[in-house]
Amino acid sequence: MCGIVGFSSRTEEIEISDVVQMIKSLDYRGYDSWGLSSINNSKLQTQKFVGKINTEGHIGQSKTIIGHTRWATHGNVTKDNSHPHSSNDGKIALVHNGIIENHNELRKKLKVAGFKFYSQTDTEIIPNLIQFHLEKTNNIRKAFQNTLKELKGTYAIAFIHQDINNIFFARRDSPLVIGVMENAYIVSSDVTSFIEKTKKVIYLEDGDYGIIN
Ligand code: GLU
Repeated sequence: MCGIVGFSSRTEEIEISDVVQMIKSLDYRGYDSWGLSSINNSKLQTQKFVGKINTEGHIGQSKTIIGHTRWATHGNVTKDNSHPHSSNDGKIALVHNGIIENHNELRKKLKVAGFKFYSQTDTEIIPNLIQFHLEKTNNIRKAFQNTLKELKGTYAIAFIHQDINNIFFARRDSPLVIGVMENAYIVSSDVTSFIEKTKKVIYLEDGDYGIIN
């Protein structure tokens, strides 16, 4: 288990501390480390932590944020292995619940294409595969679709790209729901993380993917 949250709005900023509270609301699912990425002035900012979620001291706001609680399946419980994971160009930050079964094969392919890896996780291949396809197609939607076609295993995924204030998401055999607010959307592993903000929910089916824009 473990969890994902994401907030996206065109007009409204959310306090980062508010998102940390949402991440914490998923702690009943179990976790060993956690982290979040936000876009500020078209730059990605990522913070990762091992151990308990500390809700104090998170300052700032953003219109686009993703967060994660990790339960390690591939690689030790370390800061480097915690999510979000970045693409080599530093523009994509991605969170993932589940297991990518063909990660070794995909890592080999990406290494041949010149990509480097900084964690022991299966997850780190995903943002790099998106960058790989984005460089080929120059189309983020196409790059995301081509990436999903290559992944074998289970996932709930959310990612952001620093040049685009959107959240991209997908699920297969891992839960993911969307909360609809007046001027914002929230993606989450569970409605408990946003039930105080909205009761409007989109339940995703296995194999669904999309963009909050
Ligand atoms: N397989 C990934 C990892 O080990 C994700 C684990 C999770 O679902 O938190 O980092």
